[in-house]
This record gives sequence, C-alpha cells and structure tokens, in this order.
Amino acid sequence: TDGRGIFRVYSPEMGNKMRRYHYLLEELRLAISSNSFHMSFQPIVHVEDCAIDYFEALIRWQHPIEGLIPPSEFIPIAEESNLILELGDWILLESCRQMSAWHNAGMKKVKISVNVSGIQLKHRDIYNWVMDSLNKTGLPASSLMLEITESTLITASEDIIQQLDSCRKAGVSVAIDDFGTGFSSLSTLADLPIDVIKIDKLFITQANENPKYLKILNSISELGHQLGLKIVAEGVEQIDQFELVKNLGIRCVQGYLVSRPETSYNVGSKVLTGNVN
Ligand code: C2E
Ligand code: CA
Ligand code: CA
Ligand code: CA
Repeated sequence: TDGRGIFRVYSPEMGNKMRRYHYLLEELRLAISSNSFHMSFQPIVHVEDCAIDYFEALIRWQHPIEGLIPPSEFIPIAEESNLILELGDWILLESCRQMSAWHNAGMKKVKISVNVSGIQLKHRDIYNWVMDSLNKTGLPASSLMLEITESTLITASEDIIQQLDSCRKAGVSVAIDDFGTGFSSLSTLADLPIDVIKIDKLFITQANENPKYLKILNSISELGHQLGLKIVAEGVEQIDQFELVKNLGIRCVQGYLVSRPETSYNVGSKVLTGNVN
C-alpha cells in the first residue's frame, strides 16, 4: 500500500519497464521509416568438413544513442504492435536480395534461412508473400528456408499449414526452430510440413552436464533421421559440444565455435559483404 490504504499495482520497476517499452516502440517506428536495420548472417555447417550448408539471417538494429539493441528485446515489441509485418517484409526481401547477390558472386547452392514470426503467418498470405520476394530478387525457391518456432507451428491453423505446404511444393524449405521448447509430441512431427529440425541451444548447453538432456538429444536425433529430416544443433560454443553432437549423428551445427553472425564473408579470394546502411 502507499500509506493511504491504497493498494498500488504500479511499482516503480513496472513503471521503468513500461517507459522502456513505449520508448522502444516509438523508436522502432522511427527506425522502420528511416531503415536503421541491417541483416547479419550466421553459417550452419556440416560437421565433417565445416562446409557451409546455409546461412541464417538475423536482424540487427543499430540505434544512434542506445547502440546495438538485441532482437530478443525489440522483436517481441514489434510482434505485439504488429510492426513485425512491415519489418518482416523488409527482412525477407533484404535476405533474398543479399543471397541472390552472393549467388551471383559465386557462392552457388547456399541457402538463406529467414525467421518468420507467428504474427506474419497469421496476417500475411504466406505463399504469395514468399513468391513475391523470390520474384523481385530472382532467388530460386530452392535457396530459401523459413524458420518457424516449434510453439508457433504446433498452434498454427490448418490454413497456415496448407500455405507452408504450398511453399514447400514450390521448393522452399521449412525449419522448425527452437525445437524441444514447444511441447509438441514427437509424433506430431510426422504431420508438420517441415524439412529441418533446429534443436534449441538449451539442449546443447545442458547435454554435457545433465544426462537427461543427452538422452533427449539422442532420441530427437534418431527420430528426426528416421523421418528423413535434417537436424541442426544450435548454440554450439565449445569443442566438446561439437564432438558430442557429431557423435550423436547430428550432421549440421550452428554456433559461436564455428562463426558468429557476420555482415561479410570471405569466399575464396572474394569478400562478400552485406549492404550495411
Ligand atoms: P533464434 O532464431 O533462435 O536465433 C539464434 C540466436 O542464437 C541468434 O541470436 C544467434 O546470434 C544466437 N547464437 C548463435 N550461435 C550461438 C552460440 O553459439 N551461443 C549463443 N549463446 N547464442 C548463439 P540473435 O541474433 O540475438 O537473435 C535472437 C532471437 O531474435 C532469434 O532467435 C529470433 O527468435 C529473433 N530474431 C532475430 N532475427 C530475427 C528476424 O530477422 N526475424 C524474426 N522474426 N526474429 C528474429
Ligand atoms: Ca532461428
Ligand atoms: Ca533457434
Ligand atoms: Ca531461440
């Protein structure tokens, strides 16, 4: 109570959080209209030879005063406000544009994987939305992957699942992201329109300490392979994690051990640079 017998549900800490929220929401609007974002790209590599399989596109927001604001802070705000729709249109187009440019520079056959939020799936006509960016940039459908979190996929409507299936029939791949955190039963995996399972980094971090996580990792790997899916372990930071994942038969890894997300890459003698504006 505040001393006058009035119960306050509004604590100073909540006030700070709300101020920060509204501040970032306004800044986000400005940043979208002035295009203050750029994409960074993190490779997913094969465990045998560390050859690049594909890149995940990850958004970066360089704020003039705050510096780099992490997506874990602003993506949820963009989702709550539906600003993710406009931002997400730019993310897809920019990611396809960059990959198409890299293809032309010689990095053939490498795919780009783009994170798509549940809000986008709900409000965008996903098939046409994807085809539009592919047509505008000349990127082949087979060079694009969509990453959708497990929790979004298992609650998706029948219509959304159909749209994703149409994308797959056109050659686009679909990955189930943060797998293991969304409580889908392993049997539902067979019915989802997916090509790739990305095992959440929680399991990789815990596997060496907690034998239960190791067992779960092992069974995800086995089941995934039996279903003919590609398995990716994310958040691989240490050699022993890399070895463990490799020994479980997981063929692809992503993590700081191999590379952080970057805006440019050396391919042979060429430096391939993302357009940072
Ligand atoms: P995510 O989709 O699970 O992306 C993987 C995150 O793990 C990225 O964080 C990446 O930088 C980070 N990461 C990669 N390797 C390691 C590692 O070895 N150790 C650790 N600790 N982290 C690693 P980032 O870029 O900060 O993005 C965080 C989340 O924000 C993403 O998680 C995704 O949910 C969201 N996000 C990022 N970019 C986009 C985007 O363009 N669109 C949408 N809708 N969401 C995005
Ligand atoms: Ca992702
Ligand atoms: Ca993930
Ligand atoms: Ca994650």
